[in-house]
Amino acid sequence: MSSPFTLGWEEWVAFPDLGLPAIKAKVDTGARTSALHASVIEPFGPIDKPQVRFLIQPNPDDLSLEFTCSAPVVDRRQVTSSNGEAELRYVIQTQLKCGDRTWPVDVTLSNRESMQYRMLFGRTSIADDMMVDPNHSFAQGVLSFDLYKGLPKRKPVKRPLRIALLTKEPNNYSSKRLIEAGEARGHVVEAIDTTRCYMKIDAHASEVHYDGRALPRYDAVIPRIGPAITSYGLAVLRQFINSGAYCLNQPDAIAASRDKLLAHQLLARERIGMPVTTFANSPKDTKDLVSLVGGAPVILKLLQSSQGKGVVLAETRKAAESLVDAFRGLEANFLVQEFVGEAAGRDTRCFVIGNKVVAAIQRIAAEGEFRSNLHRGGTAEAVRLTKEERDIARRAAQTIGLSVAGVDILRTNDGPKVLEVNSSPGLEGIETATEKDIATLIIQNLEAKVRPLSREQRL
Ligand code: ADP
Ligand code: MG
Repeated sequence: MSSPFTLGWEEWVAFPDLGLPAIKAKVDTGARTSALHASVIEPFGPIDKPQVRFLIQPNPDDLSLEFTCSAPVVDRRQVTSSNGEAELRYVIQTQLKCGDRTWPVDVTLSNRESMQYRMLFGRTSIADDMMVDPNHSFAQGVLSFDLYKGLPKRKPVKRPLRIALLTKEPNNYSSKRLIEAGEARGHVVEAIDTTRCYMKIDAHASEVHYDGRALPRYDAVIPRIGPAITSYGLAVLRQFINSGAYCLNQPDAIAASRDKLLAHQLLARERIGMPVTTFANSPKDTKDLVSLVGGAPVILKLLQSSQGKGVVLAETRKAAESLVDAFRGLEANFLVQEFVGEAAGRDTRCFVIGNKVVAAIQRIAAEGEFRSNLHRGGTAEAVRLTKEERDIARRAAQTIGLSVAGVDILRTNDGPKVLEVNSSPGLEGIETATEKDIATLIIQNLEAKVRPLSREQRL
């Protein structure tokens, strides 16, 4: 007969599901439930599937070693600790490994700085066939905090993330897909109406408020800010960043992508091909603008155009000049651009995620229309890119500074030319035409970038 599994009065244990390879535990048969010493204990997740995440410093003698863990909550329990203090604690269930045995245990989370042992091993965690020998120390062998050294500092985050999707349209295709993809990967995604957010700007505690309450801290924000509210939306985004969230696309990059003049200048600086583009302030220069782009036909574009709404084609010089004057009369800001006729109402939308082109479609304008925007009735089909197109798309996104971007390219006689770089590219057209799961790729990109909760981020 083999000898029974014996626990000493202190033991080294591991929590594989929490990603903790070594914790020193004190076995305390006087305590009912096991407890883990954690801080920044924060509940999240839907009401019917609650989770909790917390920070743990496994080595009491080296507080710089810290890890973020999360686990499903199985209960909340009133626990009276040895000093008589009653506290409502979260109870998680997780696998415990000690020696060569692994078994599920319930563990309460408590935040008591004074505990020398990060874990208290209570009665209910000790199986019937186990023995406790209070004269023995580390009966199941000795581990070391060195086990944490092998863990990469910025390994992709496996823990569930709390993600805010900033959008005014939680029910459109792109929003629904991002929520679905995030939840499928175990995260919590909350759609938040950007225009309803307000802010408390403070050196010590920047907060975003909504409906009379401060929003919790998010790990990440996915901005889907419409062009109508760019300025306010970017302020809200900066506020989320100040409160410790990682932002999928940075506010400055979004601002650059929304201003066609600035975007073209940034792209030109990097020698990225584009149709010849002009811009002037004074009406005296109208004629020259049209000449500089090679004469009619020309394209006029409002600087803030989107979905093709502010883009017009002037077929003759006369039409071009009157349009320029009319736009000026309206005090609109616009640029005048060479018309690329050989593109024949087609452009290529390249979807870039983290410096990689993950999908591309060709958009074909409706009959009698030169704008290929899907919102203007264009149709989409999957397309194979040349290496040159791939490179230019990647470089354009990188130049504007976007980690997720839709780069629009015209195929011209002089090679690919970038028309614009979109910071909130729609998912419907491209996912449907290419049958690729772009939403999941976006979520995976976030997972790789979000750092575990660190001390600096704790506000
Ligand atoms: P928006 O931001 O409103 O979508 P774009 O600059 O992308 O504005 O232009 C909309 C569409 O008009 C493009 O997708 C393309 O089909 C067409 N277009 C824009 N500029 C040109 C151009 N210089 N030559 C030919 N077609 C163009
Ligand atoms: Mg466009």
